[in-house]
Formats: sequence, structure tokens, C-alpha cells
Amino acid sequence: MFIAQAARKLPFQVEIAIYDASEQACARTAGDSFYCGAFDDEQAIRSFAADVDIVTYEFENISPTVVGHLDNALQGSTALRTLQNRYLEKEFINSLPGIPCVPYALVTENFSFDMPFVAKTAELGYDGKGQYIITNYEDLAYVKKGMIAERFLPDITEYSIIIARNINGTHTHYPVFENVHVNQILDTTRYGSIPAELEKLMYDKAILIAESLNYYGVLAVEFFLSDHSLYVNEVAPRVHNSGHITLDSANVSQFDLHLYSLFGIDFPPIEVDRSWCMVNVLGQHYEAVKKRSIAGKFYDYGKKSTQENRKVGHINGKLQDLELLKEVRLS
Ligand code: ADP
Ligand code: MG
Repeated sequence: MFIAQAARKLPFQVEIAIYDASEQACARTAGDSFYCGAFDDEQAIRSFAADVDIVTYEFENISPTVVGHLDNALQGSTALRTLQNRYLEKEFINSLPGIPCVPYALVTENFSFDMPFVAKTAELGYDGKGQYIITNYEDLAYVKKGMIAERFLPDITEYSIIIARNINGTHTHYPVFENVHVNQILDTTRYGSIPAELEKLMYDKAILIAESLNYYGVLAVEFFLSDHSLYVNEVAPRVHNSGHITLDSANVSQFDLHLYSLFGIDFPPIEVDRSWCMVNVLGQHYEAVKKRSIAGKFYDYGKKSTQENRKVGHINGKLQDLELLKEVRLS
């Protein structure tokens, strides 16, 4: 929806076609035409792609094989193939120089790992789904072959960096964002304050990741800082929830940058106003946020149903109002 809205501001006119597995897709009304089909339906996706000049995705669980057959999907399929599976993702990240992943192992028949650790399903996880913190022998019942066991880091500060790689050969990035998660779900984002050397290491790693995956567009890398060590957590080959703050706090949003990347439009120098923050709105917050007046801008995703712990919108507001904005969600 936000990408479609950004496309309306491009310096030339575009027609927007949306493809989604749900008839009730949020983006549906933001486009000019709508295609409904599964994300592994090769035929449906191919005929959609044949109708348009440029294809972009902002959802990671599309078949890489299908995307690999589309010449006009400029983000490519390598990123999907590598990043859909946490094990391949971590092996790939560690194969590149620079910041490594949190120490991990693939769960096999006779695997051993020091507790506490986090067991994560290799595929289809989001917002902490498919994750278990393993602290004792009883918890081991959750650990299944094929999962990833990863060291549990007790005191983390979480960051993300959003970069954009342009088909014209250039790249750019926002300053690092600092993210707070509650129950493994992103809760708030603000601009981070982190030494310039660390920020440079994060940026270099993110660019290297995008280049090595032959990826164009916006890409996000999540990092953990724990006990003075930096780790990569995961990589998203798409616009990212933490980047929603850029809708108000930057001269160009992450959605603009994503489109500039794919159309080969020169990036302007990035200017940000660090006084903004972003607060996520989940299903259980929706009614309260709708009926109360808010010291910020509420972006309603227009979801047809509001489920507990599912993101249904976000608020961009001023950092000085952060506590108020968090509170407005509670009825
Ligand atoms: P998802 O795909 O669900 O976003 P993540 O691996 O990013 O999965 O985990 C979600 C959140 O869970 C993280 O943002 C962090 O707050 C917490 N988390 C994940 N792994 C660890 C870890 N090894 N140690 C401590 N906290 C973790
Ligand atoms: Mg994550």
C-alpha cells in the first residue's frame, strides 16, 4: 500500500497492479488493478508479471523458483532463496567479511548447545513465531531437527539499518534505527545513537549483503548489540517495519527509495529529522487508537480483521511524546 502510494508521487505517471493471495489485501485499493493468486502459483504470477514492466515484492515467502523466471523482478530470486531459510541465511552472512551472526548451530540428531539458547524454526517465522527460549531440559521438547539453535543474548539493544541499492549502480542508507521489541514483536523505533565506526560496519555489511545477493531495492538488516559485541540477527529483502518512521522523518521514505532503486532514479542526499519515533499498533490496540485523539499520525493499514498481536497500523510522532503514544494504545 505504501509502495503504491509512493509510486503516485514519481515524476512520471505509473499504473499500479497489485498481486496478493488475499482478496482483502490492504494494497488493493491503492492500485489500479488487482490480481488474486497464491504466492507459489507459477502460472498466475507469470501472467501478472507479463502485464507489467517492473515487478516488486515486499513479502519474503514467494517461491524463488517462480521469481527466478521473471526478468522484470529486479530484486531477483537469490535473496529470497537465501534468506527464506534461517540456516542458509546465517551461513551466507558468516561467509561474508564483517559483522557475524549470533553463534548458532543446526539442530541435528546428536546436537548439543549450551543453554540458554533460542530455538528457531528455519522457515516461515515472523514476529517471534516459531521461536522458543530453551532454558532447561524440559524445554528441549520444543527443539526439533532442522531448527536453528542460537545463543540467547540476555541484554540486547536492537538496531536496524535500511539501505537502498539502485540499478544505476549507486547506493544509500538511513542512519541506524534503534528498535524495541515486546514479546518478540517490534514495538517502537527511533533514530539510534551509536558510534560512527559501528554504524559504518553495519552499513558496509548491509551493502555487501545486497551486492552478494545481486539484489536491487531496499534491504534491511537487523542487528543485536550485546556486551559490546555486534551481531547480525536477520536480513529482509524488502521495505521494513522500522523504516515506517521515514514516512515522516526523512525527505524521502523507504518506499520512495525502493522505487527510485528499481526505476534507476538518482537518490537525493538523505536528510532526516531525528526527533521522530514510530509506535506499532497491534490488533488489541486498534479500538483504543481509533477512538482516542493522538499526538501523532496514525497510519491505518485498513485490515479487514484485527487479530491479537498482528500489526494493523503504526503511529509516527515525536520522540518527546513516545510514552503518550504507547499509552494511547491501551483502552
Ligand atoms: P522474526 O523473524 O520473528 O523477526 P527474529 O530472529 O528477528 O525473528 O526474533 C524476533 C525477536 O526476538 C528479536 O527482535 C529479539 O527481540 C528476540 N530474539 C531473537 N533472537 C534472540 C537471541 N538470540 N537472543 C535474545 N533475543 C532474541
Ligand atoms: Mg526479526
